[in-house]
Amino acid sequence: MKSGFKGEIVVRHEPCRICGSTEGLKIAELDFWDLQHSSFVQCTSCRLIQLDPMLSAQNTAAGCHAYYILDSLEISEHEQERNLVRNYRRGILFAQSIRRKGFRPETVLEFGPGSGYFAAGIQFIFPECRITVVDILDAVLSMNREVHGFEILKGSPEEGHFTVERKFDLVIARDILEHVTDIGKTIQNVFSLLNPNGLFHFLTPNGIEDLWGYYLNWHFHKRPAELLINHVNYLEGVGLLKALIDSGFAPVEYFTYGIRDTLKGKGWKVRKKLARPASIKRSAEEMIRLHDKDWSGPPFRKEMILDHWIFRTKNQWLINFYCNLKHFQIIHLDPRRNLGHEIHGLFLKK
Ligand SMILES: [Zn+2]
Repeated sequence: MKSGFKGEIVVRHEPCRICGSTEGLKIAELDFWDLQHSSFVQCTSCRLIQLDPMLSAQNTAAGCHAYYILDSLEISEHEQERNLVRNYRRGILFAQSIRRKGFRPETVLEFGPGSGYFAAGIQFIFPECRITVVDILDAVLSMNREVHGFEILKGSPEEGHFTVERKFDLVIARDILEHVTDIGKTIQNVFSLLNPNGLFHFLTPNGIEDLWGYYLNWHFHKRPAELLINHVNYLEGVGLLKALIDSGFAPVEYFTYGIRDTLKGKGWKVRKKLARPASIKRSAEEMIRLHDKDWSGPPFRKEMILDHWIFRTKNQWLINFYCNLKHFQIIHLDPRRNLGHEIHGLFLKK
């Protein structure tokens, strides 16, 4: 199984955000809703794949709003509630795993916390730890403060001025790296936010698999595909590892998991049926206008979400066993092979 894109070498509109190179391999064209036309371009030096040109801040805001609505229309309330519990269990498992390695973070910063249940799971294992969450959306911040009592900060991980007075023992960015417009700046910021021997945990899609359907659509039909979620970086296992090591991080855990789509051929098999549909230039403005009023955010109460006998036992061994049973991943692959659905990273600031 060998993954690799074929395409033409182009001069980029904007330089690579990691190494500054102005040359790239054009992989495909896309339409981000009906808002912006762009290309996926892979840097020939550092291998980072990005949108070129990058989405503008205004288009990102409109597209994200529309996607948020689309997503909440497609996922049932029951499913949304199950996701909160899943994230809580994953937080518990993550905290257990770092405790086994001898880490006991007292201060945690999470970028893009969503519902906040992953961090809440961490706090279950480390009750004394102080949790701060960062987001650009006021609604997300106020929910995290009200439901979990976390400290909140408005901002995004790539901002130049994102220098908080305090440093943290653990910085978390789950499903964030693929969204930031400046990945190089983001990695630098995370590094400077950490205490020495602090940990950086991230989760991000395997970019090669994530991009595969767009690539095949271009490869077979030479037409733009539809990009609805603002994935603007497609991280590749070799380049990501190098970027982190070059920034002063050392890997503690680095693996991909989830091979269901890999077995179907995503990321390596050149088949028409794996291609994404062509763009229909779906209107972001219409999505917002038609459905914005219908959506009022998750009404769930934490006591009800976590009202399960296993959590009521407060027995950490039992809870850990249960969470492991629910989320155990048998197969871990080396991300440098670019197979698998998601990349899990735990890195140490040296
Ligand atoms: Zn580069």
